[in-house]
Amino acid sequence: MRASLLARLDDPEPWDFLVVGGGATGLGTAVEAACRGYRTLLVEQHDFAKGTSSRSTKLIHGGVRYLQQGNLSLVLEALHERGLLLRNAPHLVHNLSFVVPTYDWWEGPFYGVGLKLYDMLAGRMGLGPSRFLSREQTLEIIPTLEPGGLRGGVIYHDGQFDDARLAVTLLRTLLGLDGAALNYMPVVSLLKESGLVRGAVVRDAETGTEREVYARAVVNATGIFADDLRRMDEPASEPILALSQGIHLVLDRSFQPGDSAILVPHTDDGRVLFAVPWHGRVIVGTTDTPLSERSLEPRALPEEIDFLLTHIARYLTRDPSPADVLSCFAGLRPLVRAAEGTKTAALSRDHTLLISPSGLVTITGGKWTTYRRMGEDTVTQAALLAGLPEFPSGTAELRLHGWSAEVESTADWAVYGSDAVALSRLAEERPEWRQPLHPRLPYRLCEVVWAARHEMARTVEDVLARRTRALLLDARASAEAAPIVARLMAAELGKDEEWEQRQVEEYRALARSYWL
Ligand SMILES: Cc1cc2nc3c(=O)[nH]c(=O)nc-3n(C[C@H](O)[C@H](O)[C@H](O)COP(=O)(O)OP(=O)(O)OC[C@H]3O[C@@H](n4cnc5c(N)ncnc54)[C@H](O)[C@@H]3O)c2cc1C
Repeated sequence: MRASLLARLDDPEPWDFLVVGGGATGLGTAVEAACRGYRTLLVEQHDFAKGTSSRSTKLIHGGVRYLQQGNLSLVLEALHERGLLLRNAPHLVHNLSFVVPTYDWWEGPFYGVGLKLYDMLAGRMGLGPSRFLSREQTLEIIPTLEPGGLRGGVIYHDGQFDDARLAVTLLRTLLGLDGAALNYMPVVSLLKESGLVRGAVVRDAETGTEREVYARAVVNATGIFADDLRRMDEPASEPILALSQGIHLVLDRSFQPGDSAILVPHTDDGRVLFAVPWHGRVIVGTTDTPLSERSLEPRALPEEIDFLLTHIARYLTRDPSPADVLSCFAGLRPLVRAAEGTKTAALSRDHTLLISPSGLVTITGGKWTTYRRMGEDTVTQAALLAGLPEFPSGTAELRLHGWSAEVESTADWAVYGSDAVALSRLAEERPEWRQPLHPRLPYRLCEVVWAARHEMARTVEDVLARRTRALLLDARASAEAAPIVARLMAAELGKDEEWEQRQVEEYRALARSYWL
């Protein structure tokens, strides 16, 4: 697959769109461009969704918090996009109920009214009405909720998804629209003519080979690295980003059995706290810590871990300890800077589109939920700027790769959508590939082979962190599964034993940083 995509880089005809960055924003922009009929190439320096886009809270939501902040236009836009995603990717996004437990007399009416407004804003795209719960009903839905002082709760609905799987799905959608995409292909410099950006030099990280690629429109969708690309374009450009770290802890399902999430609307630092069931575990998050260092592998700070453990312990009957944490992952939000002294929690989650004098289009900020809208705005602006013929957007109606009316998003292999049939055929071909990857992980060996053959997985990490979510579900189990993944990948990609060994070592070093 990689060889045929690399061959497309040799075509001397310039691309209409070169999109730099393979996270939610870049993939959304590339799908939008290809769907409108533009010749589109996306390049990603590491793996698709390696950055912030695999480290979210996994919610497709309007954002109850933005409602609290009074940002109604952001909530409205996100609720609309939530509705589109449920329609266009039912195999990846599903309706999830959230319980807001109430311990003070005023909390029920206060949050109840706010959530009714949330229902109203969703309108016909709503996922179900919010309603008040008695104390007994609340405990029936979340039996492990702290009962001392509990008065009742409010239940409402939002969307949940698998972020890295949606990224892989967008990648497959892009390829299906005759777009091209390559991971492990960083942009190392920009190509300019008469002060205008005309393309980029990309380096194949696997071989070191550099190539020039030309394009009429170049989009910078590099997330937390957006300022680096802006500086490649114009060394004197002012930074526009402020980074904020958010971490999550993954716990065993016994801490919070049942199918509903908990939302704590007000933590000590004025944020919301979620405890969300996901792939048979519970994800607790998140934090909002201003940081200045950019990294593809950010690390949770001890005070962030303490904060989450202390806060969630107030709401659960069993207090989780560091030893109970199956995995701990951190992500960096690329927020656009505001005036001096503004806290990152108060910075805008709206997206920002900037056009530099050279014509480089930078798109940043926003949320996973609004990736399609960000892509639409970006392509409209960039096409106009590049003098490309105008075509209308079609992504609001575009069914994403694997779309199926039959697949329930909670079924086995649901994330593959209609591909699940081909995947099970693969398992029939070689019965040993039906074997589980690891006794504590919900994956089978055939998924490794599938990822290498059809989803552009190039390393053990690609498979264990993003094609499957083993690293997040149980970091130790994923490290134990690394040798068998390396063996299968080596056979698929034609690699030798030395490669296998190196892959296992590198993956284990990474996995160790996900357990406490
Ligand atoms: C803790 C946390 C929780 C969140 N929860 C939610 C949620 O529940 N719901 C929601 O809707 N949103 C959520 N978000 C927001 C959402 O995750 C982000 O808005 C989104 O993932 C940003 O995507 P991106 O593509 O802009 O950035 P990224 O995903 O970081 O992608 C940028 C990519 O560019 C690549 N790149 C950088 N430089 C180069 C180069 N020179 N050449 C080639 N490639 C390059 C990087 O490797 C990276 O993969 C959350 C964010 C955080 C941090």
